[in-house]
Amino acid sequence: MANNNEIERRRTFAIIAHPDAGKTSLTEKLLLFGGQIQVAGAVKSNKIKKTATSDWMDIEKQRGISVTTSVMEFDYKDYKINILDTPGHQDFAEDTYRTLTAVDSVIIVVDGAKGVETQTRKLMEVCRMRNTPVIIFVNKMDREAKDPFDLLDELEEELSIHVRPLTWPIESGVRFKGVYNIYEDKLNLFQPSKQVVTEKVEVDINTEELDKQIGAQLADKLRGELELIDGVYPEFDKEEYLKGELAPVFFGSALNNFGVQELLDCFVEVAPSPRPVQAEEREVEPEEPKFTGFVFKITANIDPNHRSCIAFCKICSGKFTRNAPYLHVRHGKTMRFSSPTQFMAQRKTTVDEAWAGDIIGLPDNGTFKIGDTLTEGEMLHFRGLPSFSPEMFKYIENADPMKQKQLAKGIDQLMDEGVAQLFVNQFNGRKIIGTVGQLQFEVIQYRLENEYSAKCRWEPLSLYKACWIESDDQEELEAFKKRKYQYMAKDREGRDVFLADSGYVLQMAQMDFKHIKFHFTSEF
Ligand code: GDP
Repeated sequence: MANNNEIERRRTFAIIAHPDAGKTSLTEKLLLFGGQIQVAGAVKSNKIKKTATSDWMDIEKQRGISVTTSVMEFDYKDYKINILDTPGHQDFAEDTYRTLTAVDSVIIVVDGAKGVETQTRKLMEVCRMRNTPVIIFVNKMDREAKDPFDLLDELEEELSIHVRPLTWPIESGVRFKGVYNIYEDKLNLFQPSKQVVTEKVEVDINTEELDKQIGAQLADKLRGELELIDGVYPEFDKEEYLKGELAPVFFGSALNNFGVQELLDCFVEVAPSPRPVQAEEREVEPEEPKFTGFVFKITANIDPNHRSCIAFCKICSGKFTRNAPYLHVRHGKTMRFSSPTQFMAQRKTTVDEAWAGDIIGLPDNGTFKIGDTLTEGEMLHFRGLPSFSPEMFKYIENADPMKQKQLAKGIDQLMDEGVAQLFVNQFNGRKIIGTVGQLQFEVIQYRLENEYSAKCRWEPLSLYKACWIESDDQEELEAFKKRKYQYMAKDREGRDVFLADSGYVLQMAQMDFKHIKFHFTSEF
């Protein structure tokens, strides 16, 4: 039997935010609470150091952008917490989307002065597709912030989710006094601190004590606001939160480690332990005794001295054991893993066993593709790793005729890693790479040269979207393909993809071919 306690105590989540909202700062403070690092600044202060431990790709050293996704784990109270880091740069949004398929909940960080920003909105859409439970942390309250009631309205409206504040800020910026912990009835006075010391004062808001602590005027204001909150927002309902319909909201300052413990304490209590995962064949429960897992992420060059990759595997059920035989479902081959790794803040270590909810790193020399499933023998295929229609497209051409093979192999493996998407135009046979950002083209070019000794050249291609098409009406489908033959492509799975060169063209196609479904994600 799988040990339910081991699974129940796990919390696997990601922090998502628009760049600069404070994701790194918050991650660092959480690691402090977990005792994984001793001093604040350890994660952020030194970019190079950080690169060596959590962001591995060489290109990122050059650019100082967090490109790859890493995992950090720590214990807090009785809980085992796995944080999946996500790249901050929006050109790697696809990476983040994929990471979100491996988490059971998320914490969204919002800048109190800026409110909801574009990247927050996009990432929330992905959470909504999967009903991922969401907790919101409004950060930078030590700076002049928007009115908290306005912020709550904005969050509800822009993120299409109900909200319930669980702490409440007393002013912001230079007047910032602290937060009131609504569910514990405690006042937490602001004292900038980078360590884990926060003394809370227990204060009955209806007594003089509150006036003494923050002054009569602010005390009255706070009483009024708390009353208003009680009137406007229903009690926090955990079930609604777990369904992804309601987000508890916390206020604080990640940089000053303020309001973070409230967030963490509530998080471990309400956030879900590993949730069931849907496979094509059936739903897999985390408590099932047999191990199952899927690869959601592959990164290269973790160790710059070796060209091996690491495949990140999310354990969906049971217990993973080192050296045990597992079935690689797509290959139909049994494999043993002698050096699976787990990740601490600053290092990775070999693990002997890991449980549902955990992420393990499996050394990989091209055996894995995103979405690959491992089991104890059952033929299972995990779903939920959709590709989104790319937003930028270029033809990829060989720039070194002697290295044709290397180029083909490189492209193949990079696509397996999910770096970008490949389509082959059926009309002219040319290869098209689709990405969500310009930077990905540079990453591909760089990696082809450095890892495969192949050279590529990009040629411009102006496309609006790539959509996967299907229809029950074969005749209409054939007619469409014939009419649009110059714009038809196949993805790597051999599915039909229509390359629309403008929104207008797409609209017309949808009107003219009523029985064809146009999909903007590859999962339908
Ligand atoms: P990320 O891009 O989301 O990972 O954001 P970072 O954690 O790197 O923070 C971006 C910038 O905002 C950095 O300069 C931080 O020092 C700053 N910052 C983060 N949290 C706070 C905060 O609570 N208050 C203030 N004043 N600055 C903050």
